[in-house]
Amino acid sequence: MIMPEIRDKKKSGFYIGVTCPACGAELEIQENFFVLTCHHCGSAMRIAMPDSPPAYIIRSKFGPVEARFHLDRHCKQNNLPLISSGISLQGIYYPYWKANAILLKLRNRIEERPVAAENDYEQERTIQIKKSEISLSPFFATFGAGPPDNVIPYSLGMRTDYLRMLPYSRENIEEEFRRLPVLKNWEEIENNLQKNISGISSVSQADFGKNRTEYFHPRGSLVYFPYYIAEEEISGKRTRFIIDGITGRVTSASVDDHVISLSAATDAVLDFGRLTVEPHRCTNCGIDLPKEESLVYICRNCQRLIVLEKNNLMRNNLYRAGSLTERRERFFPFWSFRLSDSQRKEMQILFGGIYQSEFLVVPAFRIANFEAMYRLSKRISSALPQIALEELDNFGSGYGSVTVGPGEASALAEIITYRERLSRFGPNQSSPTKFLPQEIFLFFAPFHLENYFYVDSVLKAVTFEKSLA
Ligand SMILES: [Zn+2]
Ligand SMILES: [Zn+2]
Repeated sequence: MIMPEIRDKKKSGFYIGVTCPACGAELEIQENFFVLTCHHCGSAMRIAMPDSPPAYIIRSKFGPVEARFHLDRHCKQNNLPLISSGISLQGIYYPYWKANAILLKLRNRIEERPVAAENDYEQERTIQIKKSEISLSPFFATFGAGPPDNVIPYSLGMRTDYLRMLPYSRENIEEEFRRLPVLKNWEEIENNLQKNISGISSVSQADFGKNRTEYFHPRGSLVYFPYYIAEEEISGKRTRFIIDGITGRVTSASVDDHVISLSAATDAVLDFGRLTVEPHRCTNCGIDLPKEESLVYICRNCQRLIVLEKNNLMRNNLYRAGSLTERRERFFPFWSFRLSDSQRKEMQILFGGIYQSEFLVVPAFRIANFEAMYRLSKRISSALPQIALEELDNFGSGYGSVTVGPGEASALAEIITYRERLSRFGPNQSSPTKFLPQEIFLFFAPFHLENYFYVDSVLKAVTFEKSLA
């Protein structure tokens, strides 16, 4: 039998609703994308993320009449007395912080391996091998940020629903809905995140030593979620009902305070960034940019370098490794971080004799397998001093998209050095240290296919599996 959820793969997770600047059509885009094409008029646009956390609003799926229906059904199912018809249902937006991060898991396990008997009289035996496995995965969690309340869910939970978020603005607030104040700032949420993640760590039992779960590159956004709220005296007790404005789920509990006190508190001073949608064009000459999603473009008309993720440490030039060759090649992008003296010394100890560089290099394209990304980073970091770099003023054919920005790459660099420390010195002597590069630049290195591998065309020393790209 086919499970229904497998059969019809519904959209799930968070989507951002935007308006096409050219024709006004309503569009939506997955959170981790930033270039989209309007299916209505064909124009390309991109989302410009603000420097401060963006705020979103999720509009309710139904009005107060349907909310009332959900409430009545809840009371019937839970044998609660019928609610008076005059009860007022108030629409509220309750703020949640949504935290995204990269999760690193270190799992210590013991593997048993059979060892062949040396002679006929000996029995076959097994040996135990200690293994520390490291994996990276995306992580997200939501935390209530409004006035504390025992009825409003503390988090949005592991929703599989499809949630359409609109950039927060006065125009996007529904009529008759009240916004509750944000009382927790992002710093408080980062502390919660640490606790939340320590909880994950304690669930899995290590075969030896201690397992570790740590997060990197945390990013926050604020999401206003819709609820209907109602109160009624039931057997002399004030009872509060919360109706989820998306699913219609109802929660209720008796409360001491009145609903008004929820909104009495004033907002902490919070400065949210405004997300904007702009035409996907060269900022200098206005010509359309390629529709392939990338964080870095060179305008084919005016040669202006366009970088969609700002970074103060980034050089204004791009580079290419090696001169032009005949072969059909693909140019893969890499971020190169110039290290401080102390970091360079540490890297020489960590990476050993092969590493004589002042740069740490991280792939600027997404590789799902962390161990493969880590190995490629290590190899290309060691090879970089032997590679001549030329300034690049145009993308020819075969240039790959930059899908990992300098911010994420910097977090990956921090994880890579931590990973190396862990394997050299063991978990007890290793901890993550803040990665503080001196400068960042982007270069493209040519690779060609040899069977199942990409081999770098300059040194023929760096390889990675074809399936990774
Ligand atoms: Zn359009
Ligand atoms: Zn241009």
